[in-house]
Amino acid sequence: MTLQLQAGVSLKPYNSFGVDVRAQWFAEAHSDADVREALAYAARQQLPLLVIGGGSNLLLTAEIPALVLRMGTRGIRLVSDDGVNVVIEAEAGEPWHPFVLSTLAQGWSGLENLSLIPGTVGAAPMQNIGAYGVEIKDVFAGLTALDRESGELREFSLEECRFGYRDSLFKHAAGRWLILRVRFALSRVEHLHLGYGPVAQRLTEQGVSQPSARDVSRAICSIRSEKLPDPAVLGNAGSFFKNPLVSAALAGELKLAHPGLVSYPQPDGQVKLAAGWLIEAAGWKGFRDGDAGVHRLQSLVLVNYGAASGGQLLALARRIQADILQRFCVELEMEPNLY
Ligand code: FAD
Ligand code: NAP
Repeated sequence: MTLQLQAGVSLKPYNSFGVDVRAQWFAEAHSDADVREALAYAARQQLPLLVIGGGSNLLLTAEIPALVLRMGTRGIRLVSDDGVNVVIEAEAGEPWHPFVLSTLAQGWSGLENLSLIPGTVGAAPMQNIGAYGVEIKDVFAGLTALDRESGELREFSLEECRFGYRDSLFKHAAGRWLILRVRFALSRVEHLHLGYGPVAQRLTEQGVSQPSARDVSRAICSIRSEKLPDPAVLGNAGSFFKNPLVSAALAGELKLAHPGLVSYPQPDGQVKLAAGWLIEAAGWKGFRDGDAGVHRLQSLVLVNYGAASGGQLLALARRIQADILQRFCVELEMEPNLY
């Protein structure tokens, strides 16, 4: 028996909001065997099992009457290499950003726009992580998951994951699939995506005229470090709300009433609104109620100034949702996973 089970563990160090709730049981998995042992233990004790990675997309609103299993599996391997294109497989517990850097150091491009996202490889498919115009679906080459219902391993192709905007099959079948490892199709030939937000401008400011994938990664790290609060300093879970997709008719009406509205027409005719703009326009930027607040630079990010509970953060989120609905007729959907 290698799995170390601990009773009554505070999850404060294990969620980026820094919310202090206890797990009835806690363990870290360092192998597939640990994962299976944890599942068997939970089944024997008739306990729910909650799997977590870095805890950077969680809002814990109460004590967790479950076995919380933190994925700590490690390993990165080259699956195939035709001289130009490679497929890389990483274990679920690999920390995301160091993994991205390790691929770039090998000269493999594809993940550079996803630099500095917190969390683990295994959680990345959950919401098809995305930033600066790239999502993992763009470089996804498959994953291996454990079916918690049958105990069998299952391979998932790109189509089977049903990736969408911050969405996937796994997000909807919460708790069924435990992702063990993920594969990525990367390339020694760089196809850079520079047309999103301030990336190209930052490269120019940095004096880079012919950027490499590593230059893009560095530029994105510098932009993100300036704009986003570091969870180690100020608790947060990144963007708290998804950018809403609305009809072209509603976007048109809103644009007439609010000429500064930030909107992006989508290929399917819908229009994506910048949720951060709506929240800022409604006056919430920098708002603080006790230790729960809206970040002073990035209104899409809710923050914990120290001792906010998950319930207080959730109450603030609901106030913002109600206000945005009333002012703009737009429903904001929360992005973090609530427990
Ligand atoms: P956790 O928060 O631990 O878990 C998230 C969900 O996945 C939970 O439901 C959990 O049960 C489940 N889960 C975790 N591991 C597994 C597994 N192995 N198998 C099955 N289910 C699992 N997200 C973006 O998309 N783009 C960004 O640019 C971005 N920027 C961020 C910036 C900051 C400062 C922060 C704090 C967050 C940001 N996020 C971003 C959100 C977050 O980092 C990502 O969603 C990340 O993938 C979460 O990984 P995690 O390991 O921390 O997952
Ligand atoms: P930003 O550059 O200030 O842009 C605001 C919003 O406009 C973003 O949310 C982005 O949508 C959208 N946008 C910008 N340029 C666009 C374009 N050319 N086409 C379509 N949409 C465009 O955003 P930011 O807050 O600093 O974040 C930068 C990137 O990192 C974004 O992609 C964002 O999603 C990602 N990020 C995500 C999280 C998270 O927790 N999920 C946290 C921090 C940053 P999209 O969000 O749809 O890309």
